[in-house]
Formats: sequence, structure tokens, C-alpha cells
Amino acid sequence: MRLVASLSTSLAVACPRCPGAVRESTWVHPRRVEVDRMGDVVEVAPDGVGFATRPDSENDGVGTVIRLEFWCESGHQFAWQVSFEGAATLFRLDAAMPDFDVTEYMDELPRL
Ligand SMILES: [Zn+2]
Repeated sequence: MRLVASLSTSLAVACPRCPGAVRESTWVHPRRVEVDRMGDVVEVAPDGVGFATRPDSENDGVGTVIRLEFWCESGHQFAWQVSFEGAATLFRLDAAMPDFDVTEYMDELPRL
């Protein structure tokens, strides 16, 4: 099923893997942003900004891919990914990222 995203209000980011209460599922933190411009990669992470070349990018066939990675306080990770498909720009959810130990690694992008 394909839905159309055209919202103009603000929404809370929720963990797609947290069961039950909506409140806890919104205890989400942005960890990393990546833009892969057909193999030229820019990464913004808690410890800084990085640049890399990914010659064998799996995105070669689709063009630029924008990826926003999050973690929740229950140890889940997930990502929102925006990419092209034909004439459309698609938003995808990657909920297949591995769990992690929140007591070991809770870095997030800087906030005030
Ligand atoms: Zn979660």
C-alpha cells in the first residue's frame, strides 16, 4: 500500500517497534543523518560531520538517498529514508536495524 505524505502540521516521531503506549514510543532521539549522492556521502553524526565515497553504493540505480536515523529509549533503532522512484519521491521506514544497549551508547545529534 502506498500512502501520500503531505502533512503541514508538526508530528512527534514515534518508534515503529515500541509496542503499546504512544507516550513512551515518542522517546526518540535523532542519531545520524546521511545523504548519499550516488556514492558521494555526507554524514552528520553526534561527533561531527564526515565525508566519504561509496563507490559500490547500492543507491547507484536510484540517485540521491536521504536517510535519518533514530533510536528510542527502549533500545530500538530505525530510519526514515527518502529516495526517488521514477517521477515520485518516496518515504520509506527502515525498521530492520539491530537493537542496541541504551546504557552503552546513547549518543544523539546535539541539542540545546
Ligand atoms: Zn522503540
